[in-house]
Amino acid sequence: MSIRFVDEAWINVYAGKGGDGCCSFRREKYVPRGGPDGGDGGRGGHVILFADPHVQTLLDFTGRPVHKAEKGRPGSSKNQSGRMGADLRIPVPVGTMVYDEEGHMIVDLAESEQEFVIAKGGEGGRGNTGFATSTHQSPREFTPGEEGEERRVHLELKLIADVGLLGLPNAGKSTFLSRVSSAHPKIADYPFTTLSPQLGIAELDTFRRIVLADVPGLIEGAADGVGLGIGFLKHLERTRVMLHLLDPHDREIDELVHDHQVIRGEVGAHSTELAERPTITVINKSDLLPAEDVEKIRIELQERLNEPVMVISGVTGDGIRSVLEQLWRLLNPSE
Ligand code: GDP
Ligand code: MG
Repeated sequence: MSIRFVDEAWINVYAGKGGDGCCSFRREKYVPRGGPDGGDGGRGGHVILFADPHVQTLLDFTGRPVHKAEKGRPGSSKNQSGRMGADLRIPVPVGTMVYDEEGHMIVDLAESEQEFVIAKGGEGGRGNTGFATSTHQSPREFTPGEEGEERRVHLELKLIADVGLLGLPNAGKSTFLSRVSSAHPKIADYPFTTLSPQLGIAELDTFRRIVLADVPGLIEGAADGVGLGIGFLKHLERTRVMLHLLDPHDREIDELVHDHQVIRGEVGAHSTELAERPTITVINKSDLLPAEDVEKIRIELQERLNEPVMVISGVTGDGIRSVLEQLWRLLNPSE
């Protein structure tokens, strides 16, 4: 089964118009009728899409559909060519696919640093100098700059979730996801219509973004193909780190340990490799318990599970920042 998470954006790109050619004649002292000296116009700037490894999502295009390159400058007298318009280089994530309005793929920017001229700048016009011949020594002809290309294109990026959310129903996965997300990309090709994984993008700051997948329907027996769980588990294979949420409300410590084991059991039964993937275990809904109790439960659970346990509230946002930072460290061990 393939699940595609798609991040997408429509943009309108306008290349620069070419500068007009110039019509001019030399005016010099003692030279009564100087020859033509109108220079050519400069080329308009191209719009270039550039696969930038530092860009992870198409989020930056939200509400920013118009992208214009500079126009070329007109030519001037003394045979001076007009300056070229600066190209507009638009960074997009590596893997961005670009489609025209009919849905035909224009280019797949699969390689890092790959670039593609998506709208060509107009050529500069010719100045009258260029029209001079032996029999036509004082031409007044010149041409205007060409229009730059304009087009509307659709950018599409298949996202791979970095982090998969684990937890029993009601652990607070959806709440957590919407709390941390700055965007909910659309999900394409998902075979189930009623229950679909939700994807969110958490922005730690401008350059650090984490793609998280909330994978509902993980229920006891899922690994044996009961319910929808197995498909979702399959999807989790592509995530690199997991975040396991526990709901402490009205739960004894033994029950929390049990809840934890149920999920770990499902994951392990599906794939030992998946079970070994780095996981952060988190007690959610801290707002429902007195602070001292939460800390006590956290310490006890940590001992029982023999792994670090963090505390958050998806509702108040408490502790979420540290969890995201910790996820980032796991995803980027070299930083
Ligand atoms: P999911 O099934 O794991 O996706 O859980 P949901 O996000 O749908 O949450 C289940 C219920 O728990 C909802 O009623 C949420 O409002 C509630 N909930 C989730 N997170 C918190 C939290 O941090 N504090 C409190 N008080 N309630 C929460
Ligand atoms: Mg949910």
